[in-house]
Amino acid sequence: MPRRRIRRPPTDEYKRLAAERIEHLFELAEGVFRKRSELADRYVQIAWKLAARYNIRFQPHLKRKFCRRCKSFWVPGTTCRVRTRPDPPRVIITCLRCGRITRLPYERKRAK
Ligand SMILES: [Zn+2]
Repeated sequence: MPRRRIRRPPTDEYKRLAAERIEHLFELAEGVFRKRSELADRYVQIAWKLAARYNIRFQPHLKRKFCRRCKSFWVPGTTCRVRTRPDPPRVIITCLRCGRITRLPYERKRAK
């Protein structure tokens, strides 16, 4: 008999922890990409699953770091192409692995 899983809505504490893990996974992906790009993609997949499970939205700075279709980690010039358009202001990112085009609104004020 299959065990019934009771799904409680994630608490803010869990969400915060998951968000931290997602940030950390992207840092790891960045560090490992040069040596093992497939591992970087794996980290992105894990981050994606975490976000889905805990119902977390990706921060704007993370949205431009991976492909939403093929979940590959984006490194400008290597796995994606980044272009900007002034009107309307936005960044156009083309995934070089699956060809998906992502348009993101341009950030006028930078967080960092
Ligand atoms: Zn892609």
